[in-house]
Amino acid sequence: MINLVVGAGFSGATVARKIAEELNEKVVVIDSKNHIAGNAYDYRDKNGIMIHKYGSHIFHTNNDEVWQFVSRFGSFNTYMHKVIAVIDGIETTIPFNLRTLYDVFPESLAQRLENKLLQHFEYNKKVPILEFQKQDDADLKFLAQYVYEKVFLHYTTKQWGVKPDEIDGAVTARVPVYISCDERYFQDKYQGIPFEGYASLVHNMLDHPNIEVRLNTKFEDFKEEYDRLFYTGSIDEFFAYKFGELPYRSVHFKLEELDMPYYQSNSSVNYPCNYDFTRIHEYKHFLNDICDKTVIAKEYSEAFERGKNERYYPIPNEANAALYQQYLSEAKALKNVYFLGRLGDYKYYDMDKAIARALELFKDIK
Ligand code: UDP
Repeated sequence: MINLVVGAGFSGATVARKIAEELNEKVVVIDSKNHIAGNAYDYRDKNGIMIHKYGSHIFHTNNDEVWQFVSRFGSFNTYMHKVIAVIDGIETTIPFNLRTLYDVFPESLAQRLENKLLQHFEYNKKVPILEFQKQDDADLKFLAQYVYEKVFLHYTTKQWGVKPDEIDGAVTARVPVYISCDERYFQDKYQGIPFEGYASLVHNMLDHPNIEVRLNTKFEDFKEEYDRLFYTGSIDEFFAYKFGELPYRSVHFKLEELDMPYYQSNSSVNYPCNYDFTRIHEYKHFLNDICDKTVIAKEYSEAFERGKNERYYPIPNEANAALYQQYLSEAKALKNVYFLGRLGDYKYYDMDKAIARALELFKDIK
C-alpha cells in the first residue's frame, strides 16, 4: 500500500507516522511549502531567538493520548501561557477574571463587582461574553458592556472583520469571562513549548524509514500512483471550488529586531482597542532565549485571498458551514480519500485537536 499525505503539518505528520509504524506501509508526505510543520513552523534566527513564523503557538491539551504521542518526539518546558491586554492604557490579564477587576476599576467598585459575580456564578465558571451580556443585575450589565466593548468588540472587528455576534459564538467563547483568580490563558493539564521547537518535533514525527517527505511539491504536480490519500489542504480547493470558495481569515506579521533584551513583559500583549494590529508577540519569552536583542511581531488580520496570502482561520458561521457541508457530501462519496486538519475539516482546531482528529481517523482506517 502506498499512502499519500498532502500537507506536512501536525495533522499530516500524525497520520503519516501512525501508518508508517503501525501498518508498516509506505507514506509519501508532500507539502507545497519549503518547510514542514505547517503554520506551527519555527526557526532560530541569526541571534538564536526561536521565531514562530506564523504567530505564537502554545501547546496545551487535556488529552492524555495526544500528550503521550507528541512527547515521544520532543520534550516540552512547563511554560503556561498568559495574555496581557492593554485596556485604556492599563496592562491586565485576559481572559477577564477576578483579578482583572482590580486592575481596571477603583477598589470599591472592583470589590462590589466581585461580590456580585460570586453571588451569580459558581467559582471557576467560564462564561462566554455573548452569554455574560444576558443579565438583569445593573452592576453586572455594566460590567458585561465594559468587557464587551474593551476586550471583544474592536479586537474581533479587527480579527474577523465582523462584530462578535456576527460570528459563531464558539469563537469568542475561546476567551470567556473567567470567574476565577487563575490568570492563565489555558487551564489544560498539559501545557508547554517544545524545547527544540515545533519544526524539530514534526521532523522527528516524520523521521521513519517508511516515510518520504517532498517539499515544494504541489498536489496537482504529484503524478505517481497511490492507494490512499490524506488531504490536509483546503477541501474546496480539492474540488476545484465547484460550489464556491470557503472563506478564511489571514494574518501577516511585521517583524522588528530591537536593540534591547526585552520589549514587553510577556510573550503576547493584546491591543483590543488601539492600533490596527491585534497583538504583539515577543517570541523569546517562550524558551527564555538569552540574547541582547529581541524580535517582536505585530499581527495584522486581513481577508484571505488566493495567491496573495495564507489561509489561517476558517470563518465559522452558518453560511460557511452550509457550504462546507456540500463539499463534505462530495468527500464522503470518495473511496480511500480522507480530509483532515484545519483546512481539510474547515474547523478552527488547536494543535492538540488536529492531532486528536488524526489519531481518531487512523483508528478508523486501521
Ligand atoms: N478575542 C477578543 N479580544 C481579545 C482576545 C480574543 O475579542 O483580546 C476574541 C477574538 O474574536 C478572537 C477570539 O476571541 O479571534 C479567540 O481568541 P484566541 O486568542 O483564542 O485566538 P487565536 O490565538 O487562535 O488567534
